[in-house]
Amino acid sequence: MFKAVLIEKTDAGGQVVRQCSLAEDQLPPGDVTVRVEWSTLNYKDALALTGRGPILRAWPMIPGVDFAGTVEHSSHPGLVAGQSVVLNGWGVGERHWGGLAERARVPGEWLIPLPAALSTRQAMALGTAGYTAMLCVRALVKQGVTPKSGPVVVTGASGGVGSVAVMLLSRLGYQVTAVTGHPEEEPTLRDLGASDILPRQALLQLTRPLEKARWAGAVDVAGGAMLAAVCASIQLQGVVTACGLAGGMEFPATVAPFILRGVTLVGIDSVQCPREERLAAWQQLSELIDLEKLDGIVKEIPLSDVQKAASDLLDGHIRGRVVVRLD
Ligand code: NDP
Repeated sequence: MFKAVLIEKTDAGGQVVRQCSLAEDQLPPGDVTVRVEWSTLNYKDALALTGRGPILRAWPMIPGVDFAGTVEHSSHPGLVAGQSVVLNGWGVGERHWGGLAERARVPGEWLIPLPAALSTRQAMALGTAGYTAMLCVRALVKQGVTPKSGPVVVTGASGGVGSVAVMLLSRLGYQVTAVTGHPEEEPTLRDLGASDILPRQALLQLTRPLEKARWAGAVDVAGGAMLAAVCASIQLQGVVTACGLAGGMEFPATVAPFILRGVTLVGIDSVQCPREERLAAWQQLSELIDLEKLDGIVKEIPLSDVQKAASDLLDGHIRGRVVVRLD
């Protein structure tokens, strides 16, 4: 038997979340069974656990879009028992049972061997947020944005994706402006490597089609009016990576930045990202991340606390990263 969080549909069309014990033979099909050691609480998991967003595609569901642990059984040619692995996305925690449980069973090709420099806890301290931040940074680099191109901006900087993006960009030598709705986070953001802090409201006041060209690149987790303001403030030939919707799904922008400044808007999808890019991103993350600084933004919770933490996360009461202890 293993412990899990299970979300079930009620007859009234709502949902209930409960902590339960399940048998391994109840796990879904897959050629690898993993003893999950750590999971984490992502924005998507918080939406699923609170029912505030239509994340789940199958019921009942074990939420958790990522996990790290040790292979327990494998009939996959590339993975053996005892190996440390990490998983992000692929619909896990949405349509396939996820990481907020002591066991998970998945197709082996979804699993990434853990880079040697990371423990399973550190992998989840980074989690899908950190891996997505790395995908954004890699996209900026691929599109030709270098530290010499000019300063870069990160929105939602005190959140999971944002704080890791600030760390990675600063480590690579970029001058980083951190946009935050939590001004009290300024010391932490400066410690992570931000050289300028901009209040969220100041960015939201930039509503013209083209604003002063300030940044060569951007990592945007907010979407909505924030993404529009960022696009309007990008320099000639600059690049914006868009990965989130913490501030809204809409995109109230004009085409001006794209046709008058040659700005490129790059979408980032961590869920269906090809395996080769995942392997490269995890390897680069393990090389770039300052593990001591990462530890400073991590809060650890037991499985029994995930529902409360999910509400706190959506209500803006959580900074940095939350890891969930399973083993
Ligand atoms: P967090 O909750 O950890 O961080 C989100 C941050 O966004 C908050 O800390 C806050 O930062 C900022 N924020 C919150 N509300 C608003 C608002 N109304 N307007 C503007 N900014 C706001 O979430 P994550 O960092 O894990 O995820 C961020 C986004 O990225 C989410 O939308 C998530 O779904 C998405 N995501 C997408 C992925 C992909 O594959 N495309 C993968 C992972 C995440 P501050 O107070 O500093 O402003």
